[in-house]
Amino acid sequence: MYNPEFKIRLQSNLAGLQAAGLFKQERYIDTPQFSQVGLKDGSQVINMCANNYLGLANNPELMQTAKDAIDRWGYGMASVRFICGTQTLHQELEDRLSAFLGMEDTILFGSCYDANGGLFEGLLDANDAIVSDSLNHASIIDGVRLCKAARYRYANNDMVDLEAKLKEAKAAGARTILISTDGVFSMDGIVCQLDVVHQLAEKYGAIVHFDDSHSTGVLGKRGRGTHEHCGIFGKSDITTGTLGKALGGASGGYISGPKEVIAQLRQKARPYLFSNSIMPAIAATTIKVIDMLEASTELVETVQSNATYFRKGMEQCGFNLAGANHAIVPVMIGDAALSQQLSARLLELGVYAMGFFFPVVPREQARIRTQISAAHTQQQLDRAIDAFAQASRELGIIK
Ligand SMILES: *Cc1c(COP(=O)(O)O)cnc(C)c1O
Repeated sequence: MYNPEFKIRLQSNLAGLQAAGLFKQERYIDTPQFSQVGLKDGSQVINMCANNYLGLANNPELMQTAKDAIDRWGYGMASVRFICGTQTLHQELEDRLSAFLGMEDTILFGSCYDANGGLFEGLLDANDAIVSDSLNHASIIDGVRLCKAARYRYANNDMVDLEAKLKEAKAAGARTILISTDGVFSMDGIVCQLDVVHQLAEKYGAIVHFDDSHSTGVLGKRGRGTHEHCGIFGKSDITTGTLGKALGGASGGYISGPKEVIAQLRQKARPYLFSNSIMPAIAATTIKVIDMLEASTELVETVQSNATYFRKGMEQCGFNLAGANHAIVPVMIGDAALSQQLSARLLELGVYAMGFFFPVVPREQARIRTQISAAHTQQQLDRAIDAFAQASRELGIIK
């Protein structure tokens, strides 16, 4: 390197993170993703922090579907969609996702990060306005930054503030106003009041986008997501989501909405135009996931009842939990270093659960975010609760 100061600056940044207890250390898993995983040292631990809500990440039937799909459709596409990267399979998945989500049409992306990166700039310009929840996912924040529309930010899930910002945007003469929100705020496990958001959108003639990455397959009687949970299935505007969480956990993302919206995005969304098509085996396997979820709601019911069971057990131990009605159960700790100590002690006790701290969440609001899966057995949940209680008593977090 011709500029040694650059490396020295990075070394000092990294040392600063270490000293502040904010350094994120990766742990190595030596098995497939599941409710229990094996680590590099051979130990087996209960996994309490995967987005594997339905336990499908290593489902044998899906693994076989993926293997068969490689034989039938090949390994990679080596193209973006509009050049030579669209198989009938991609189109079939888009149609199946549209029907599953109660939308007119769907466009696939390499990830939901990319879907949010292409959404705003693909639809809006300087004549328009985006009214965005303050706790929206980083990919929404980045997507909004890429777009020239005026930006307004409302306090998290605060419908009074949302209305105030809609009035402001209207008064400023915005042509189109797009409200953007997470369906579930993933650091807090809070479900967005999407029905109220829609009432306000109607009142002010705005469009609604909700990112259901943590809700598809998790919320609603049939696992269709936040719109189903809030009683507005089939009435919502635009949604983004991921194939990397409940729907199998591989990778891929999408935008679903009115056919004109999707048609315009196929012409203009830059991550769609300039990034590779999703792997055929993922498309085929996601179709199989949709088959499974349309045939039975058992997995959806199990993740919901497991989450209720775990939340109740943790409350009885005296933990301060954030959120409600979702498989994300954040255990609030406060101090970042303490959350790291708790995470390390939990691992010794056979429970894998990571601490989240600044800048991922506000300072002094460090937490251990647990995520419940349909794959957890009651015995695993009981063992996790016991380990949390023991480690937290040792560290003085609970009495
Ligand atoms: C996980 C997540 C994403 C990113 O999804 P990927 O497909 O992994 O890029 C986007 N938005 C929200 C709300 C998420 O939780």
